[in-house]
Amino acid sequence: MFFLNRGHIRRITAALEEIEKGNLPQRINIYSKGALGRLAQVIDRVLSGLTTRINTLNKEAVKGKAILTSMVEGVIALDNDARILSLNPTGQKIFNIKKQNAEGRLFLEVIRNNDISEIIHRVLKNGEPVSSELSLVLPVQKTFKINASAIFEESIVAGCVLVIHDITQMRRLERVRSDFVANVSHELKTPLTSIKGFVETLLEGALEDKKNSREFLRIIQEHANRLESLINDLLDLASLEERGVSLRAREVNLKELADKILMSFEAQLKNKEVEASNELPENLIVKADKDKIEQVFTNLIDNAVKFNRQKGSIKIYAHELSDNKIKVLIKDSGWGIPPKDIPRIFERFYRVDKARSRALGGTGLGLSIVKHIIELHGGSIDVESSEGLGSEFSFILPK
Ligand code: ADP
Repeated sequence: MFFLNRGHIRRITAALEEIEKGNLPQRINIYSKGALGRLAQVIDRVLSGLTTRINTLNKEAVKGKAILTSMVEGVIALDNDARILSLNPTGQKIFNIKKQNAEGRLFLEVIRNNDISEIIHRVLKNGEPVSSELSLVLPVQKTFKINASAIFEESIVAGCVLVIHDITQMRRLERVRSDFVANVSHELKTPLTSIKGFVETLLEGALEDKKNSREFLRIIQEHANRLESLINDLLDLASLEERGVSLRAREVNLKELADKILMSFEAQLKNKEVEASNELPENLIVKADKDKIEQVFTNLIDNAVKFNRQKGSIKIYAHELSDNKIKVLIKDSGWGIPPKDIPRIFERFYRVDKARSRALGGTGLGLSIVKHIIELHGGSIDVESSEGLGSEFSFILPK
């Protein structure tokens, strides 16, 4: 006789009602062999399949969210009315907006930028990706690369995703590099043009004129020397900038080293009647690369002499700092550096007065070489200056 188990029907109905509401109920667990039992077992299998699939989807969603959260690019997803669906933390940071104030609102209401809005509408209209570089003031001027692509649902454009990459630093470095190449070319060309000019003049007959030809040769020699110092400085800079450049650290007595360098400047000091005093303590020892620290003293003392006044002075002294560091100061009584130039003074080729520096045999690379060397030693460099009174360059080194 056909027999209906009301309890089983109730359990199956309750499970189906839960599914209808969008929930995933517990297994029904009816193991009888009859039609109801088989129906309950099929429902259980569907439930188990759904649970596995939902778990997988949840895991994917968590992974996707983690990727979006950690991305250095800003990501904004929009629907086909250009309403913001979501934006990641970098997106919030770039535009200085909060997720809760942005999601669900029209893009232009939240981010008042017509250029980006136009990109979004182009993508929503054509479905084609758009890539563009924009300068935005937020509040400082920055350069962004924006890639926008359509979100498709069954071949229909359902929205758009913006990926926004801050390329300010990259563009700045490109500019620094191209300025550097332009500067190097210019600096090399200037003495070369002079050398060629004077050689031509000599070949065209000036060679016979004993007095002038000597002067021309002297000028050619001066420019050749200039080329040599420039190339040497460029090679020094290149080797300091090499990745993994190594220092040959050993104990260096700073006072002895400074004395040695001052001796090598004896002629220039005498010529300018500049009084130089080395007040570094006798026993001041640091662990450093001696040749490189010698170059630091050479460049700083060279500047202190070059940019000094007649009958000026130079004083080299030191302070012990608390954290086992030493600060060495080189003070001169020269013409000083205008405040507006101080922030740029350590840049390659930056000179307060180009013509004056060149006339004194400078390349404009000395201070950037010094900065590199000191930073390679884990130290730092600084300058204080009063126009017309003098400058004081100082560097800190770990002992
Ligand atoms: P340069 O080869 O011209 O000396 P540096 O890189 O050594 O190049 O110095 C850059 C510029 O900084 C100089 O051209 C000069 O304008 C300024 N400068 C450096 N040292 C001093 C100083 N002691 N007094 C005044 N100006 C200085």
